[in-house]
Amino acid sequence: MKQLQVEADHPYSVHIGAGAFDLFADAYRSLLDAADQIVVIADERVAELHLSYLLDFLTDWDVRILTIPAGESAKSVETFMSCHSFLLSENCSRDSLLLAFGGGATGDVAGFVASTFMRGIPFIQLPTTILAHDSAVGGKTAINHELGKNMIGTFYQPKAVLYDSKLLSTLPPGEVRSGMAEVIKHAFISNEKWLEDLLAIRDFSSLTEEDLNHHLEKGIAVKAAIVEEDEFESGVRKYLNFGHTLAHALEGHLGYGKLTHGEAVVLGMSYALLLSEHSKLDKFISWSVANGYPLQLLGEIHFDALLPYMKKDKKSSKGQLNFVLLKQTGKPFIEKIEVQRASAAYEKLVLQIG
Ligand code: NAD
Ligand code: ZN
Repeated sequence: MKQLQVEADHPYSVHIGAGAFDLFADAYRSLLDAADQIVVIADERVAELHLSYLLDFLTDWDVRILTIPAGESAKSVETFMSCHSFLLSENCSRDSLLLAFGGGATGDVAGFVASTFMRGIPFIQLPTTILAHDSAVGGKTAINHELGKNMIGTFYQPKAVLYDSKLLSTLPPGEVRSGMAEVIKHAFISNEKWLEDLLAIRDFSSLTEEDLNHHLEKGIAVKAAIVEEDEFESGVRKYLNFGHTLAHALEGHLGYGKLTHGEAVVLGMSYALLLSEHSKLDKFISWSVANGYPLQLLGEIHFDALLPYMKKDKKSSKGQLNFVLLKQTGKPFIEKIEVQRASAAYEKLVLQIG
């Protein structure tokens, strides 16, 4: 098992690999013993598949379980309130402990609950998706508002992240594809050699648990280093938005759920690579097609339909759009781009995808 340290407002560890849950009874025993109540907030699909596995590691404690809707629909005010109601009805206090068991959606809402219940109680992230290698580390918590995704939230770091890679074996192919998008994003903004290794993958089902753990560890290391430098996103943390300006516009235009987040990010990265005049664009397009990312969708959507969403981006200013681009692999920077240039680049990309 691998352990990485995140030096945020309080330092914490991320443990990656089969057997991570053994640490409840080992490294984290005193944290669990100190809690007057331990509550697991679990994605309902993940609970169906893996709750009994998790509970086998928690037999020394009296644990309450709350299941919440599977996936993105859990990031709502209703679920947020129902979590608080549950904690209150179970007589939880400031000494209670939350365990967030699921993908990024569960981690985001349970983290937000932890940060607001009685002004903050400790929580541990137990991520169950590939994408959550990104979301479980770094302390951003959120629910969605009908006018925008992740509009209500906090910065609130977990006490630990226990990432048991065994649970990833039940992920459907679409969720593997979504998660691998954020993995390759971390490679683009950090490391050429690692990027080459990832670009050589033509079929994610060929990845062994060991391969996957290797890539997740590298991704988490990149994320942790950036969070350590800029916990509250005033500078370098913005580089994690590589590919996300167009991705958020696609998600907004199509409605959430039509594309997975990772699929949208791959389309967004191909666009950012074209704007960057990056030498790996062709290779990235071929990788995306081989692995089933729906690049052809760009040809079906007009740039003008996406523009209002890109303009809404917090970082854009009059007539110009903000993008994270790459001088080269591992050298991200922020660039303001005129709408006309952005539109021409989009047309060029559509032609190139064919
Ligand atoms: P998710 O949590 O919505 O899970 C995707 C689907 O996979 C769900 O249907 C879920 O039930 C299912 N699932 C989860 N684990 C499974 C398993 N082991 N086996 C089978 N099915 C499983 O999606 P996600 O991709 O993990 O996370 C996306 C969310 O993460 C978005 O809401 C996004 O905004 C957020 N996010 C947050 C951050 C952050 O820094 N906080 C970063 C990136 C993304
Ligand atoms: Zn993302």
